[in-house]
Amino acid sequence: MKITEHILRAKSKTLFSLEVLPPMKGKTIHDLFAVLDPLMEFKPPFVDVTYHREEITYKKAGGGLVQKVPVRKRPGTVGICAAISAHYKVDAVPHLVCGGFTKEETEDAIFTLHYLGVQNFLLLRGDALKNERRFAPSEGGHHYASELVEQVANMNKGKFLHEETAYEHATDFCIGVAGYPEKHFEAPNLGSDLRWLKHKVDMGADYIVTQMFFDNKVFFEFEKQCRDIGITIPIIPGLKPITGKRQIHSLPPVFHLDIPEDLSAAVEAAKDNQAAMEVGVEWAIQQSKELIEHGVPCLHYYTMSKADPVLRIAREVF
Ligand code: FAD
Repeated sequence: MKITEHILRAKSKTLFSLEVLPPMKGKTIHDLFAVLDPLMEFKPPFVDVTYHREEITYKKAGGGLVQKVPVRKRPGTVGICAAISAHYKVDAVPHLVCGGFTKEETEDAIFTLHYLGVQNFLLLRGDALKNERRFAPSEGGHHYASELVEQVANMNKGKFLHEETAYEHATDFCIGVAGYPEKHFEAPNLGSDLRWLKHKVDMGADYIVTQMFFDNKVFFEFEKQCRDIGITIPIIPGLKPITGKRQIHSLPPVFHLDIPEDLSAAVEAAKDNQAAMEVGVEWAIQQSKELIEHGVPCLHYYTMSKADPVLRIAREVF
């Protein structure tokens, strides 16, 4: 079922959803099921599976030469979606990125997912590779998520890349896109970022999932500004509990967000990682309760492949 239909059917009750990462190479699908198993008690109608591009590594090639080798540490997004849908009978939502794909490869991948019964995507641009200063599309690929949204929206109208006619048997995907309550790090200001978010919606996005945030006021303001510029689709807040002391320093540079002083002080004062996790889980519980009270359609938890913190939040909140 489409995410938008899940939201409609819930009739204003806040849904519970999850995001998981494909396991590192060398692990099995059962390692991922071990994360999901306990969380299924809370009946998430959908589970997102992230997409991870290659990382460029350098290997000695003999004769003093160095060879550039692209390595993907977490492959398998499509297969994992198929496995999750078959195993749990929930909708699995693959993340698709622009980076590393031509438009033709994207079209092929979308047909594969269509035949697998996937009905929802989260469409993203993706980040620059570690050895790149800025995001660079593949030759013949998309520069921005909005272009990918437009491609899928066209497929939903039966318009494929190089065909003259529109086909009767169009796809019918529900399209999610990313939003950034604290602004995307490349955008010069929040206003500009919001206008590009509106452009993704105008191109055909059906719902928005936000980057994680730790201050609900920031989300409420972002949501208000979205509504003010005419974005009417559902906005789903993404939440992640802090689970270790170091995260108050590691999360801001990676996800470009602020950690409120009360939270960072409490985590710093925690005697060890376990105590820091207690603080993080309690903070996320309070955030979740307030967001539900506010009437958000769904709370989307970034599990980061750990069940326990999200399980404890779900027990208190859902
Ligand atoms: P876009 O919407 O294309 O925006 C990128 C930047 O360009 C923004 O600053 C925007 O303001 C600006 N912009 C947009 N359109 C234009 C335009 N036409 N002209 C000029 N400027 C423009 N990454 C992964 O690799 N895999 C994942 O699975 C993944 N999952 C994610 C899930 C969520 C919920 C979120 C919030 C992020 C996720 N990311 C993932 C990270 C994401 O790929 C990066 O944040 C990336 O840098 C931006 O992606 P985007 O889709 O938001 O880009």
